[in-house]
Amino acid sequence: MSNSTIQAAVITKVLPDSIGEDVGFEAGDAIVSINGTKPRDLIDYQFLCAEEFLELEVVDIKGKTHQVEIEKDYDDDLGLEFTTALFDGLRQCNNHCPFCFIDQQPPGKRESLYYKDDDYRLSFLYGSYLTLTNLTEPEWDRIKTLRLSPLFVSVHATEPEVRERLLKNPRAGKILENLQWFAKNRLQIHAQVVVCPGINDGMHLDRTLEDLAKFYNPDLPTVASVAVVPVGLTKFRPAADELIPVTPSKALEVINQVQKIQQKYQQKFGTTFAWLADEWFLIAGVDLPPAEHYEDYPQLGNGVGSIRQFILEFTAKAQELLPPAITIKKKLTWVVGNAVEKAFQPLVAQLNQVAGLEINLVALHSNYWGQTITVTGLLTGEDLLTGLQNQDLGQGILLPTVMLKHGELTFLDDKTVEEVSVGLGVAIVPVADITELITACLQ
Ligand code: SF4
Repeated sequence: MSNSTIQAAVITKVLPDSIGEDVGFEAGDAIVSINGTKPRDLIDYQFLCAEEFLELEVVDIKGKTHQVEIEKDYDDDLGLEFTTALFDGLRQCNNHCPFCFIDQQPPGKRESLYYKDDDYRLSFLYGSYLTLTNLTEPEWDRIKTLRLSPLFVSVHATEPEVRERLLKNPRAGKILENLQWFAKNRLQIHAQVVVCPGINDGMHLDRTLEDLAKFYNPDLPTVASVAVVPVGLTKFRPAADELIPVTPSKALEVINQVQKIQQKYQQKFGTTFAWLADEWFLIAGVDLPPAEHYEDYPQLGNGVGSIRQFILEFTAKAQELLPPAITIKKKLTWVVGNAVEKAFQPLVAQLNQVAGLEINLVALHSNYWGQTITVTGLLTGEDLLTGLQNQDLGQGILLPTVMLKHGELTFLDDKTVEEVSVGLGVAIVPVADITELITACLQ
């Protein structure tokens, strides 16, 4: 990437009591260079800032250029946040996976919703999954030199022809070579396998997990963990995509298959190593494994153990915060995806032990996406408007903010919380975590 395509790093926030605040930075200021080098991304920025003397070229919001000198300890952070982590643009994906969620969205939405990223920097910084199919030699070198580890890799299948078929990319067949490169350089990955029935399940899944386990060396595992995730389909998926939805019986089959393999790894490595996403158990309609199964929750971001962790945290918070009774009676509706209905019933029972408090759990599926089983994060404003119409919702709705776009009061279908509240004629209280949920019940 040449320097000319690197944009200045635009500041969105200056943290209180930070060096950035002392120096007088303001939101809207843009850092052009640090000690004469233009940072390409947050990784460069952090690396360049790890010095005791910094000379920054900064353009303020009015377009005036300033030279700023800073003297600090080498590991002091400037306390600045930026509009993006990538100042030279996003590395776009070069695959055509038939199960890609981006292609399974309705047409006609904002252009940014259709961007397909496959960027090793986002993987290192935020744990997003990448396929390794678009990396250039300088990028492999940079991963090695800066020790960008662990990365999060969508493996899906280790047999070249199966992975090429899934990613629709001839470069996809080199995954085992890629993993050898990580092993040679003593760098780690966490892997994911999205199971598409009829393509990479059955013996292909066995083979994939077996191949990945060869990269588990207890002293320094190259592959530290694997998440096995069911393919998610919506009614907007492209026609003739060759995909078959995961049925309850298929989910049960995969659970049995992977649990046998888990036992083997437990004996051999002392870790489960290959983890089943919660969704398998929800689709199959069977109980989730107990909390202790999840060790240190290595694949939480992939929905592995997140329900068990939520239940544990909820129970602890409920014991700490729930009083025996409230003085003014209250009735509220807690809306969730129907995938978690069974698992959340005991939590509602804990809330309803508070005298004077009545919480009704309403579990919806998504007509918008055309799913019969839906996780909470995929419910849309339209789903709430249809699913909650003509129901006694009490004084308000407790709305988990996972349904909303990051930092906005807008659902995935662009309906706003306000529109849904007006449409249903009831107040909506967005709740971001367990403490907010319990507090909203009591206030
Ligand atoms: S690699 Fe990811 S973004 Fe690219 S097509 Fe496949 S699923 Fe979509």
